[in-house]
Amino acid sequence: MTAEDILSNEDFKKCVEGKPLKDLFSIKTSHVAVPPKAMIEPSRLCEWCGEPTMVSKLIETDGRYMCRECSDHDYRPVAE
Ligand SMILES: [Zn+2]
Repeated sequence: MTAEDILSNEDFKKCVEGKPLKDLFSIKTSHVAVPPKAMIEPSRLCEWCGEPTMVSKLIETDGRYMCRECSDHDYRPVAE
């Protein structure tokens, strides 16, 4: 592709303006596999940062339940 092949916004506008949508788009039926619904669980606050975290995602460290982010760091902000 050369620089001449690339249309400017003005050139593009001239190409599509006034054309019927059926000439601009191809509409087809498609089939997409929908992923299963997310599991809904109650949240509990991380004992360090206070972020509501899904209970099954909390990590117990030294007897405290923390979100993954707080659990992964040696340094943690002081919980207020
Ligand atoms: Zn946290």
